[in-house]
Amino acid sequence: MLTALEQYDPEIYELLRQEAARQSGCIRLIPSENYVSKAVMQASGSCLTNKYAEGYPGKRYYEGQQVTDLIETVAQQRAKKLFKADHANVQPYSGSVANLAAYLALAKPSDTIMGLALPHGGHLTHGWKVSITGKIFNSVQYEVNPDTGRFDYDQIRKLAKKHKPKIIISGCTAYPRQIDFRIFGDIAKEVGACHVSDIAHIAGLVVAGFHPSPVPYADIVSTTTHKTLRGPRGGMLLCKAEYASKVDKSVFPGLQGGPHMHTLTAIAVAMAEADTPEFIAYAKQIVKNAKALAEKLLEYGFNLVSGGTDNHLILIDLRNKNIAGKKFAKALDRARIVTNYNTVPNDPAPPFNPSGLRIGTPAMTTRGMKEEQAQQIAALMNRVAENIDNEAAIEQVAKDVLLLCSQFPVPDHFIIQNNDARPALETQQNSK
Ligand SMILES: *Cc1c(COP(=O)(O)O)cnc(C)c1O
Repeated sequence: MLTALEQYDPEIYELLRQEAARQSGCIRLIPSENYVSKAVMQASGSCLTNKYAEGYPGKRYYEGQQVTDLIETVAQQRAKKLFKADHANVQPYSGSVANLAAYLALAKPSDTIMGLALPHGGHLTHGWKVSITGKIFNSVQYEVNPDTGRFDYDQIRKLAKKHKPKIIISGCTAYPRQIDFRIFGDIAKEVGACHVSDIAHIAGLVVAGFHPSPVPYADIVSTTTHKTLRGPRGGMLLCKAEYASKVDKSVFPGLQGGPHMHTLTAIAVAMAEADTPEFIAYAKQIVKNAKALAEKLLEYGFNLVSGGTDNHLILIDLRNKNIAGKKFAKALDRARIVTNYNTVPNDPAPPFNPSGLRIGTPAMTTRGMKEEQAQQIAALMNRVAENIDNEAAIEQVAKDVLLLCSQFPVPDHFIIQNNDARPALETQQNSK
């Protein structure tokens, strides 16, 4: 039986089929990616995409909100319970918009904000110069200690005392260690700043209890919903009661129009999933897998920024291997191991061809892979590094990866094909 999409738009249908096969036939190590459940996918692809719901439950600008009001209220309640927060706004379109909304709730354009520099593991939206956040605010950036690859809280305090920012941002996009949110909160208090914490990457670990939560120490917490939290692509803000109205106004009408109700609905489903023992087991395994992968990589002579990992993420410094990050990432992709090249702290190489590679374990963990497979993946990555200019050897690794993928199919519960048929594992190379 043909699906509607297959019938109406065979071109896009075929591309979707190819992408489903790619996601199933590769080991996906990009730390911000995952597989959502079928339930989340269903909510995301639902009739809620047809509905406008500008405003908030009980205070909308269009009629026909009998159901949307209930759904958004459920999503808010689940978010508050999961993160133990006074207030939740579940409308931000993405993590980037959530961050901008958080800043504009607490500061005005041209005020000073202070976040981690992008080449040191910060996000674009933490005030990096090419981001709007680095243009409309006066942005001061802190860095990690070049020797340890970790935060130097005394340095951060000194910088905060010198520049007296209105907002201090904690949280990262490429930092493999735990963050001490309490110290960030203390520093903010000492200099009269607000503390915004961005847990986009680690939200799933935070709600499962494998990373300390910033909620007690931050004025506003921002997160994406699609990384370790394993929901649809979206954003979310959590805050203390005193900031509730400012945060809500900042999201709508400050930055956005109508919320993406289908996404918001799927976020509600993802948060129900995150509130289960199965999710806690998954989050625990993410960290175990990252540690096993890191240990094996160290054995193979890879240098890891900060020497290892406490979370879901590993940053490899490839300088001792004499392989550029981009070259390694592309060779790994041909070997069906999907990663991203990344700067390392104080990278001597230019940002478009940096010295590092960023990997993470959320998606492989969702597939059911454990420490043994994490070690195998390290070995496969090492084979690619040792054969970086040997296409035949890389092709052999791709075959071994495909075998491993077939032993750990994307669980039925997480199937990615829109018509529920299991996508065939494709044996030909994805063309790149
Ligand atoms: C991924 C990420 C974001 C941005 O999320 P988008 O949904 O891609 O806009 C913001 N902050 C951090 C720390 C991130 O890692």
